[in-house]
Amino acid sequence: MKITMLGHSCLLIEIDGKRILTDPWLTNGAYFNILKHKGSFPENYEVLPLDLILVSHGHDDHFDPHTLKNLPKTIPVIIYSGYEKKALRAGFHKVIPVNNGVLTKISGIEILAMPGKHFGGLVTFMITGKQSKIFFGGDSVYFPELEFALKDTKPDVVLMPVSGGEIGFFKFHMNADEAAKLTIASKAKHAIPIHYHFETGSELINNLLMKENCVLDFQNYISKNSNETVVKILDYGQTFDLEEII
Ligand SMILES: [Zn+2]
Ligand SMILES: [Zn+2]
Repeated sequence: MKITMLGHSCLLIEIDGKRILTDPWLTNGAYFNILKHKGSFPENYEVLPLDLILVSHGHDDHFDPHTLKNLPKTIPVIIYSGYEKKALRAGFHKVIPVNNGVLTKISGIEILAMPGKHFGGLVTFMITGKQSKIFFGGDSVYFPELEFALKDTKPDVVLMPVSGGEIGFFKFHMNADEAAKLTIASKAKHAIPIHYHFETGSELINNLLMKENCVLDFQNYISKNSNETVVKILDYGQTFDLEEII
């Protein structure tokens, strides 16, 4: 099983010979270029062919209209039900809307929609293949139901959003400590932080959307509080290979 970081929550997961793209955002600008990737893709990186697109929710930094245009419309899309129409409007033929608790099997790989919370709605996913299991947190905030659902699930890898965006009491994403708490509850072997490769033209907005040092805070919290999980920080284009580690 391999996971390649394409930036933010967009990752290519290769499991049991299948290729799954999560939360597609492969152009530099989203939301009319206000939100940009912080960093750049490897040149000429080819994500195709794909067997599945997995979408936690339909915000543009997770389901970018310009990226969708360039993907073949025959690829099945599993998406949180609240954004089913966005996937259909983008022209995909096989759209599978899911809510928390729905299990979908694609080519022998189990995709379980799990609890998620975020403005506009969202699901998280547990992806289970023959020999490996991956949790994908998309852009969820922390909430006890998600911690309960993850408890002792022992994934090989958790992909945890860590950016911690908030305005006052309103939280957009979970912060580093909350992401670490969920990771430790799951007893994951490895954790890869996600959803922090972005910036806007304004420092003020950057600071609202993302805490400085969120990735290092996540890593530090886990190394202080768990002997079970190893944190791996991936740059653009870098691949985590579970077989090489085992
Ligand atoms: Zn979002
Ligand atoms: Zn987001």
